[in-house]
Amino acid sequence: MIDLNEAYINGLLKTAAHIPDSDIEDILEKAASFKGLNPQEAAALLMTENETCTHRIFQIAGQIKKHIYGDRIVLFAPLYVSDYCINRCAYCGFKQDNDIARRRLTQEEIRAEVTILEKMGHKRLAIEAGEDPVNCPLDYILECIDTIYNMKFENGEIRRVNVNIAALDVAGYRRLKAAQIGTYILFQETYHRPTYAKVHPGGPKRDYDYHITAFDRAMEAGIDDVGAGALFGLYDYKYEAIALMLHNEYLEKRFGVGFHTISVPRIRANKTYPHAVNDRDFLRLVAILRLAVPFTGMIVSAREAPEIRRQLVQIGISQMSAGSRASVGGYSKLEGAAQFNLADHRDAGDIFYWLMEEGILPSFCTACYRQGRSGDRFMELAKQGDIKNVCLPNGLLTLKEYALDYGDSRFKTLADALISEKLADIESQKTQHLVKSKLADLVKGKRDLFI
Ligand code: SF4
Ligand code: SF4
Repeated sequence: MIDLNEAYINGLLKTAAHIPDSDIEDILEKAASFKGLNPQEAAALLMTENETCTHRIFQIAGQIKKHIYGDRIVLFAPLYVSDYCINRCAYCGFKQDNDIARRRLTQEEIRAEVTILEKMGHKRLAIEAGEDPVNCPLDYILECIDTIYNMKFENGEIRRVNVNIAALDVAGYRRLKAAQIGTYILFQETYHRPTYAKVHPGGPKRDYDYHITAFDRAMEAGIDDVGAGALFGLYDYKYEAIALMLHNEYLEKRFGVGFHTISVPRIRANKTYPHAVNDRDFLRLVAILRLAVPFTGMIVSAREAPEIRRQLVQIGISQMSAGSRASVGGYSKLEGAAQFNLADHRDAGDIFYWLMEEGILPSFCTACYRQGRSGDRFMELAKQGDIKNVCLPNGLLTLKEYALDYGDSRFKTLADALISEKLADIESQKTQHLVKSKLADLVKGKRDLFI
């Protein structure tokens, strides 16, 4: 089992505080050549207060993002299906202690939610649910996945369902795998045991060991894309970052592949949480993670305000939610408590416009999962620096499809200009030619084209 030793992580951060600037320069050189960082090196960057280094960290993070992923952001939406929960996580609006009217969507209500999401143009969803084996058993989640995958619309369908539900046993994960989920997402919240115990006063999630070994069981069950995260601000964000890296290293050693994605939710300035992360530290944290694990997707939710999301996109975030609602039935405007407060209230369409105006390609791509490029097959491609050779073409194809099916005339004009510009960035002439022909097929009415 993974052994995250508190004294070891603290020692690592303490030693890193005394690393001379000349060594930090070497670490930055290594990061700039896309080699990633070990936890000691990441600790050195986390501990430095040197402004010139910080400037370089942001610069290199931007270069890595561009080199590995190209100018694209993959978009998705969360879909809350049940807020029943028997856990007492201090930071969550769904905790058992809260006296809220709880709801589990019927399959009819799921269809209503998915219809709204599909109208926004989404092709990728993340199912979210609290933990309650009686009111929200795994059978129910599997039924929801089945319902979603079986919905067909005039303009397509949801093509990838990621799942963010409580830790399961191996048999449970086998059933999720059989339901053809995309990524299984589970946040450790905090890797710091005493803090974990404090913020999880009751419920099955209180069991740190069972929670932290969830990805082991998921991978034993054959799920090879797992998405990790910590709720930065519950404890020292530097500690969490190093622990995340050690967890990733452990999975790589044991299963040959680490995290597919890392999410970076955070608690902002808040008297209850002395470790709440300010904007500057948060941006530095994301940039350092980008340097440390260049091939891991990084996700930001609508918990962050538009301006911070704008900056995060430049320094390493590769996926974001758009048009999100954080309550059960939120898209259908059903009454319900939110799991947390959102800070980006823009409609999905406004976010797609905004990205294009920033010169960034909004992508609705789900190709890898459907081409069998998951787990180590995905990582191999990413580590060779080849993933952008599929991300960019697929981003262009999905944007064209979106523009044709959902865009108004201004959107179509902007999208066509962006597509022509980015087409030229495809290095291989053969791929460029293939994409042009698929773009023409889309205009003729074909859909769901990818490479
Ligand atoms: Fe329940 Fe998840 Fe909220 Fe904890 S974070 S109270 S497990 S819904
Ligand atoms: Fe994601 Fe693969 Fe599509 Fe790139 S090609 S956006 S990695 S699914």
